[in-house]
Amino acid sequence: MILEEILKNRAGFEEKLRKLIGRPVLLIELDMFALPCGCSGITANMRGLEFDDLEVFEQQVLPLVKEMAENLGVKPTVTFARLVPGSSIVASLNWRTLCPRCYPEFARGAGKMPRPDLYMLVFERRK
Ligand SMILES: [Zn+2]
Repeated sequence: MILEEILKNRAGFEEKLRKLIGRPVLLIELDMFALPCGCSGITANMRGLEFDDLEVFEQQVLPLVKEMAENLGVKPTVTFARLVPGSSIVASLNWRTLCPRCYPEFARGAGKMPRPDLYMLVFERRK
């Protein structure tokens, strides 16, 4: 059941992103993860996606990343793109429900790029 959802969403997200950006970007692997610390979420490993694409199409990409989280039953604290350091290549999109230990690390960072390899799309700050 879960695998069917992952398969369906991998294909759907890739197709919508291609239509939006107008290039054959690939979602080569869609993973759900759980970490020993308590963080969990989704990773979409990308090929052909550029940092510029995210900046230009951010408003159109946001509903797609929200839809993915909802479809897979994930409530991410943070959604971000991981860049290949020193390049404009987007290696992956990440949806992460932060554990109490990891939350401060993300909350400390300010702005869209708290680290040179991270581009923040959504951050749900705790009150
Ligand atoms: Zn954690």
